[in-house]
Order: sequence, then structure tokens, then C-alpha cells
Amino acid sequence: MSNDIGQAGAQDQLRLQSNILDKEEARKEAKRKYARERAREKRKDPAYRALELERNRRWVADNKGQALESKRVAGRKWYRANRDQKLAANKAWKLANPEKVREYAKRRRQISSIIKRSDYDSRDYADVLYADPCSYCGERADTVDHIEPKYLGGENHWSNFTAACISCNSSKGTTNLLEFLCR
Ligand SMILES: [Zn+2]
Repeated sequence: MSNDIGQAGAQDQLRLQSNILDKEEARKEAKRKYARERAREKRKDPAYRALELERNRRWVADNKGQALESKRVAGRKWYRANRDQKLAANKAWKLANPEKVREYAKRRRQISSIIKRSDYDSRDYADVLYADPCSYCGERADTVDHIEPKYLGGENHWSNFTAACISCNSSKGTTNLLEFLCR
């Protein structure tokens, strides 16, 4: 008997705790919403926006690897969420743009020749990269980018490869990663 009461008491206790947690979570969410709205308001002021951009720039400069990784994660997440639509759109685009398809195929051959000069792991990795979206903008990637350009001493090694669309890859060109990300 006393044991039954004890169990019921424990359940009430749990329910109470979970209510408190729900309320706590709701309070936190309300706070976050308020912060988001305030930030949006503040951003309308060009001076504040400039400060914020500068702060972001500095953060990227201090967190080079982390910044790139979060871009990658966002790109992959986006791709996973939009994969089917993206593939269908790619197919339609290919049918509508045969000359571009040829141009890209040529580019891909050039890239494979770059990659052939690297070691086995790097070639393997480059193959995987072809399925990834562009690390810089999340669009479809057709090229493998040297994160640190070869021109600046970047290696022909998988650790220096990432997927990039032609547009990002060519606009990045021989600029170093940070400079490019901060543009
Ligand atoms: Zn891109």
C-alpha cells in the first residue's frame, strides 16, 4: 500500500518536473524570439550592420576551420533536405543545356587529370566530393576546389580538396580561403 502511494507520488513528481521543463523551454524560446527580433531591428541600422559584419569577419579569421566546416555542414544538410528536387532540376537543366554539359564534361576531365596526379586516397575522396554540393554556396558542385590554392602552395592532397560549383571555384581563383569567405 505504502509502496503504491510512493509510486503515484513519484509519477506526480515526474509530471510536475516535466511541466516545469516545458515552461522553462517555452520561456527560453520566447527569449530567443525576442533576441532574434531585436537583432533584425538593429541590423536595419547600417552602422550596426557594418559592425556586425566586421565582427563576423574577425570570427571567421579566428576560426578558419570551424567556419569552413559549418559551411560544409549547412551545404550537406541543405542537399539532404532537397536532394530529389535538386536531382530532378539537374536532369531538366542538362536536357536544356547540352553545350554546357559538354563544357562541364571537359572541365571534369581536366579536374580528373589534376586528381590523377595525387595519391589513391585523394582520388577516392575526390570521387566522393562530386556528389557533394558546393561548399561555398550549397549549389550543385561540378568541380573539386583546392581549398588553399595550388598557386599559394596548397597541396594536391585530399585534405586540401572540397566540392565547389564552377562559379564559386572560378571566383575564388587564386584567392586564399579567408579572403574569399570574407568578401
Ligand atoms: Zn558555389
